[in-house]
Amino acid sequence: APPPVSGRRPRLLLMGQRRSGKSSIASVVFHKMPPTETLFLESTTRIQKDPIHSFMDFQVWDFPGQLDYMDDTFDFDHIFGEIGALIWVIDAQDEILDPLSRLHNTIIALQRSYPQVNVEVFIHKVDGLSDEYKLDTQRDIMQRTQDELADAGYDNVQISYHLTSIYDHSIFEAFSKVIQKLLPQLGTLENLLNVLCSNSGIEKAFLFDVLSKIYIATDSSPVDVQSYEICSDFIDVIVDISEIYGHDRKGDPQENGQISPPVSLGRIVEEEQLPEVSSIIRLQNGMVLYLREINKFLALICLMRKESIERQGLVDYNVQIFQQALQRVFELGGGGGGGLR
Ligand code: GDP
Repeated sequence: APPPVSGRRPRLLLMGQRRSGKSSIASVVFHKMPPTETLFLESTTRIQKDPIHSFMDFQVWDFPGQLDYMDDTFDFDHIFGEIGALIWVIDAQDEILDPLSRLHNTIIALQRSYPQVNVEVFIHKVDGLSDEYKLDTQRDIMQRTQDELADAGYDNVQISYHLTSIYDHSIFEAFSKVIQKLLPQLGTLENLLNVLCSNSGIEKAFLFDVLSKIYIATDSSPVDVQSYEICSDFIDVIVDISEIYGHDRKGDPQENGQISPPVSLGRIVEEEQLPEVSSIIRLQNGMVLYLREINKFLALICLMRKESIERQGLVDYNVQIFQQALQRVFELGGGGGGGLR
């Protein structure tokens, strides 16, 4: 089926050479595949339009690396007219010159007609590489790209670089950054989270897309990887428990015949009278994890000291106010809960 044409949907385009890891990334992030199982993935040989049923409603187009997308048979406008970000995957464990020159050609072509598209380079498969080697590779890629673009007459192209691997949280972190740039409401969300944190004694709060475990916003205190990891693991635990003990959610078969992964936090979305899922876990180090389902796609997860949860009534109340505010932000944004712009 062709992708629904709608100006509202920011589309992510995943590109890169064959075996660079595109299918693995899509499977791990959007279909909960364990990273080791990607070893047995068939490499992409056709363009896959992969509908994602999550907060953003974006699509990952997994382009086969060997296909010449600059070919005349490609409808360039159709592809690039609507995307918000182009994610270019480069295998850091492989030879990089050929993939780089393809990347450069693509950026130059984009600059001519679609300069608004964010270019995001994923320097991928960095697991197993030393920190020094990672940074050298990144520096090398950045320098070559800058030189090449300058030669072509483009001096100020904004390109972001991310070191990624499907074997740790770096791929989710990178996606979070990519998505956040596409969210016009990001500033408002961050402010709301800041207010929530300061009024409730919360140290760190993330607003997560439950399906992908991408966080779409967080308060302005610095993100440390451990807090992110523990919050994202918490989602898995709650999703698993809801799967077993929660309410049914209507099945949502995807277009390619797969059943969508179990992502509901456990209520029938249509039945508003059911309370949102919430959960509190006390950690041994005196910290507390607090999760609250916000809407069909989003969950709020907070990390706080155990003293803060002693006034749980206050926290619950503030979270409820936060949830209402969020609803209004998205209604004003015109997207009906998950929409954008
Ligand atoms: P595609 O052709 O771009 O879709 O590439 P695939 O997704 O088929 O991946 C090619 C191979 O790279 C597979 O064997 C994956 O297991 C492997 N791979 C993907 N991501 C990573 C990663 O982050 N680290 C490592 N070490 N291997 C990866």
